[in-house]
Amino acid sequence: MKRILVTGGAGFIGSHLCERLLDQGHEVLCVDNYFTGRRRNVARLLDNPRFELMRHDVTFPLFVEVDEIYNLACPASPVHYQYDPVQTTKTSVHGAINMLGLAKRTRAKIFQASTSEVYGDPVVHPQVEEYWGNVNPIGIRSCYDEGKRCAETLFFDYHRQHKVRIKVARIFNTYGPRMHPNDGRVVSNFIVQALKGEPITLYGDGQQTRSFCFVDDLVEAFLRLMGTSDDITGPINLGNPGEFTIRALAEKVIAMTGSSSKLVFLPLPSDDPKQRQPDISKAREVLDWEPTTHLEAGLAKTIAYFDTLLKEEVAA
Ligand code: NAD
Ligand code: UDP
Ligand code: UDP
Repeated sequence: MKRILVTGGAGFIGSHLCERLLDQGHEVLCVDNYFTGRRRNVARLLDNPRFELMRHDVTFPLFVEVDEIYNLACPASPVHYQYDPVQTTKTSVHGAINMLGLAKRTRAKIFQASTSEVYGDPVVHPQVEEYWGNVNPIGIRSCYDEGKRCAETLFFDYHRQHKVRIKVARIFNTYGPRMHPNDGRVVSNFIVQALKGEPITLYGDGQQTRSFCFVDDLVEAFLRLMGTSDDITGPINLGNPGEFTIRALAEKVIAMTGSSSKLVFLPLPSDDPKQRQPDISKAREVLDWEPTTHLEAGLAKTIAYFDTLLKEEVAA
């Protein structure tokens, strides 16, 4: 049994991770400031004596004793990370410094939830880990992209300079139950719009692509990466290589929900990447991992989740 800190543990991915770690018999300390996460995401874990929930902002120092750290704290949806961009950069950068300082003092192994956004609007396709990216340093997405890039720099410098054991994962678009209904990301938006019979909002012509990974597959990869030997630092791409246009996703959601929603076309936000698909050769080789959930199967579970959530909201 290990003592494991999960920052951002009350968020979408973090709550699934906390659950899996408890299932494995570990002690979990979940730290979150509830900016985009919610207590209800971890409500059913509260009865577990091995689970502890703490309200804390990672931009401030944290002194606890742990064996492993998963650093997930950071808003992930463009709508949320652009709401207070200065705080977004602080969360990535000061958050990384504090968690790396904690890892250094406690000799804990530390995992960083980095992102495909470090590749920006990529000119190499699919994206391999060796690609350095194409990021606008001064645009509206930069607080997130550059914050995460600087966090990666800090991870590798703490590793080289202080011998901190690091695991850096570059996560590609992930979806599943417990996404926030007003999260603003494409999968949650389309499903909620379809279930409510509201127009499906396509930004641009809908020909931009993304590759969507179901959350259970992603969490499995986190655990495998954390379990690798100390010489494996990453960065390593984690995602589902199945690439779809956003329009195709909209049509799939409409078909699966039997919705009468119509497509509406809205302006494309600036710096919106045109295509994104992970090359996961490294993850296949190093982690013996690849996603096993097909888009339809993952969407069916996610639609069922939002359906229940919306009915609860109507009843309340
Ligand atoms: P999320 O918004 O649901 O979760 C982020 C959590 O971090 C929330 O619970 C939020 O309250 C918390 N948080 C934010 N700022 C904080 C702070 N200063 N101190 C403490 N807690 C703070 O998003 P998610 O999709 O679960 O993403 C989790 C991590 O994975 C993020 O670091 C994100 O950048 C990364 N990631 C996610 C995706 C994806 O597609 N979901 C893709 C790439 C990377
Ligand atoms: N830190 C923390 N918890 C710890 C140890 C350190 O939050 O258990 C913070 C500490 O406050 C500092 C940061 O992590 O701001 C970086 O720590 P480090 O030891 O690398 O730097 P220093 O304290 O020498 O500036
Ligand atoms: N998108 C869209 N309609 C929406 C939300 C998003 O067409 O209601 C598009 C968005 O412009 C982007 C893609 O879907 O091209 C994925 O957006 P998301 O915010 O989910 O993630 P990211 O851009 O960070 O990959």
